[in-house]
Amino acid sequence: MVLAELGGSISRALQQMRNATVVDEKVLNDCLNEINRALLQADVQFQLVRDMTRNNKNIVNFGDLPAGHNKRKIIQQAVFSELCKILDPGRPSFTPKRRETSVVMFVGLQGSGKTTTCTKYAYCHKQKGWNPALVCADTSRAGAFDQLKQNATKAKIPFFGSINYAESDPVKVAVDGVETFKKEKCDLIIVDTSGRHRQEAALFEEMRQVSEAIKPDLVIFVMDSSIGQAAFDQALAFTQSVAVGAVIVTKMDGHAKGGVQSSFTVMWEYTEVAATKSPVTFIGTGEHIDEFEVFDVKPFVSRLLG
Ligand code: GDP
Repeated sequence: MVLAELGGSISRALQQMRNATVVDEKVLNDCLNEINRALLQADVQFQLVRDMTRNNKNIVNFGDLPAGHNKRKIIQQAVFSELCKILDPGRPSFTPKRRETSVVMFVGLQGSGKTTTCTKYAYCHKQKGWNPALVCADTSRAGAFDQLKQNATKAKIPFFGSINYAESDPVKVAVDGVETFKKEKCDLIIVDTSGRHRQEAALFEEMRQVSEAIKPDLVIFVMDSSIGQAAFDQALAFTQSVAVGAVIVTKMDGHAKGGVQSSFTVMWEYTEVAATKSPVTFIGTGEHIDEFEVFDVKPFVSRLLG
């Protein structure tokens, strides 16, 4: 089910409830059943849907509502806040502070849009007056540094990496890069890491070592919105290896493969990795450097419901 369809189905269920002459328990149940059906068709986990319905029923307790209360409004608000609750882990992400140097490490599978997102993140802070810098600690993929260099040069952001790939130790490159930019008084040092290895275990071990060496203030996990239900296992694998503190979901634009169709599913899936309790902080909406948006749960759900 595509995002717009999901939003449409939920909105229709709410509209039917609003149109009812009398809003009683049956009308409420019909409305919640319709919403359940739409969510389940969108691949939202059964348990989440069940909990949400239970919470809605508790909030809208007809027996306790004094006469004259606007039941329609209460139901509408309850549904909205339950949808928000599912997407919001209730824990804010670390936010870099001005006049301090913050180190932010990016992790994610190759192809997820990690390198592009590093530059977008740097650029969006630069636009707000920050002094960011980019470090390429991916020494395993030929061309990784060139890609970062090209992106950084276009955005006029200083960069560091293994020139001609002479240094093959990602930990050393990461540490040298962070030290260099700390000396240069950059306030936001962004470290891009490798997203592929011959063996998955080696990738996670490398990530762990880089993280231990540079002690980032924040680890951002970059996830491609078109991966659908694989999001759960992927997010879990990354968060078990490093202390992920925030998530950026890429390719939320309609042009990318999967795009908006599965992005909502990814969000739900991700929130299922409750152990991480990490919020989605930004979304990527295109290939260009400025196609990048702050992610806020409430406007997202409002937009969903139309
Ligand atoms: P990495 O291997 O994870 O570093 O991924 P890259 O940054 O090289 O990105 C892989 C591809 O995804 C590139 O073609 C990017 O232009 C593209 N890409 C990254 N983010 C987005 C996005 O938000 N929307 C779209 N449409 N493409 C994106």
